[in-house]
Amino acid sequence: MKTIDLHSKVAFVTGGTRGIGWQCAKTLAQAGATVIISGVSDQEKIDQKCRELNSYAGSNHMGVQCDVSDPQAVKQCYKDIFKRFKGLDILVNNAGIMETALLGFTTTESIKRINDININGALYNLQYAAKLMNRKKDGSIISISSIVGLRGSDGQIAYSTSKSALIGLTKSAAKELGKDGIRVNAIAPGFIETDLIKDFSEDKKHHVTKTIVLGRIGTPQDIANGVLFLSSDLSRYITGQIIGIDGGMIL
Ligand code: NDP
Repeated sequence: MKTIDLHSKVAFVTGGTRGIGWQCAKTLAQAGATVIISGVSDQEKIDQKCRELNSYAGSNHMGVQCDVSDPQAVKQCYKDIFKRFKGLDILVNNAGIMETALLGFTTTESIKRINDININGALYNLQYAAKLMNRKKDGSIISISSIVGLRGSDGQIAYSTSKSALIGLTKSAAKELGKDGIRVNAIAPGFIETDLIKDFSEDKKHHVTKTIVLGRIGTPQDIANGVLFLSSDLSRYITGQIIGIDGGMIL
């Protein structure tokens, strides 16, 4: 039985300070990777999460404050990564926000905010990560889409549009980057217990849970397990795929 060993790999998890991203960071670190986590909160908060990661597994992890929607900040972030680690093997394009409103109530500001972070942020990171990975002709890029990007969602028009965009991004980048040894995939999580859904009422959660074949809300670890697989050689012949991790919400 082959085990997953990511020693000597460098992984960047955007939005790695909380929720799904944080669990991905811990899981990749536990498998031996050196991990960079980013967030938008103040640097001290990010440094604290980085210290937590260092005490959890490994010791050379890095925390950066980088708003994914700011192309200059993203560029600088990859310069810093190159300076310190001389390369990058894994990108988990995870940072994202959700704002909920029916079509008629969705404001221009909300559409712009969601697109800037969820779509443009993912694209900037993909561009710079691919440049670093191209030096080694090897790498794995995993974007966190959503089931709502696959099947739509009433009351989440802007958010679900942004998550659909990640599917186009994944398939197009997979086609371009395959020749450079870089695999590009996405995960489409279902309903995962994190801050993102903290405002959902217990009633709503109960209602959603009834639509999940496996009968429970997902955990960040359920997603991190998929990220670990796609980061590793076990998935070396998989690219351009959107992998649903949703307990059977879409069948
Ligand atoms: P959380 O709200 O728990 O965490 C979001 C993370 O993204 C935080 O680390 C936050 O940093 C970071 N972040 C937010 N905005 C920016 C930005 N502009 N630049 C950099 N980092 C940013 O969300 P989840 O863990 O639930 O979600 C992670 C991803 O998974 C998202 O893309 C989301 O759309 C997707 N997803 C989640 C589902 C769920 O049910 N939870 C379902 C399907 C998809 P900070 O701590 O500094 O604020």
